[in-house]
Amino acid sequence: MRTLPLDPDSVKGFLDPEEGWALHDAALAACSLGPVIEIGAYCGKSAIYIGSACKAAGNTMFSIDHHCGSEENQPGWEWHDAELWDEEAGRLDTLPQFRRTLRLAGLDETVVPMVGRSGQISEFWDRPCGMVFIDGGHSMDAALEDLHGWAGKIARAGTLAIHDVFPDPADGGRAPFEIYRMALASNLFEEVGSVKSLRLLKRL
Ligand code: MG
Repeated sequence: MRTLPLDPDSVKGFLDPEEGWALHDAALAACSLGPVIEIGAYCGKSAIYIGSACKAAGNTMFSIDHHCGSEENQPGWEWHDAELWDEEAGRLDTLPQFRRTLRLAGLDETVVPMVGRSGQISEFWDRPCGMVFIDGGHSMDAALEDLHGWAGKIARAGTLAIHDVFPDPADGGRAPFEIYRMALASNLFEEVGSVKSLRLLKRL
């Protein structure tokens, strides 16, 4: 049985274990091509899977998040968690939880938190990436920023992973599904894997 350095169930967030292991394996396979980028760190559940793969391969994972929560995490929304509210700042702050996860999982030396907007960071990022995992905001603006900022940074034969892809609108929001379709329509990617709401695309 495969194990992780920290039980993902002990960390807030929404990622199915099967999806997590698929991300782990995709990250492992992509490690020789370049670093792994994650967009949407939240409290670090997916970083346990991906970061463990990077650590085993001697690779580095950069995890991008402004850490103020997505639209659906804000007060009054469906996925708001009052425990993550920073009273003084008057906004959500998931960075302390994220850093706690890295520390408990022994991933401080492997996973580099990058606090900011994915679009702003991508403007200054030149290096080809082995894998980019888009799991950020579900507004169309946020999803397009993630796709347009990062799809072009993936090395040939590298992986674009997208979470929360729901072909049926009854199952969830449209933006991740739309950028998944745009990536395929670009003819720069082909689908190589699908686990629940996770899609894995290979850069041709
Ligand atoms: Mg997600």
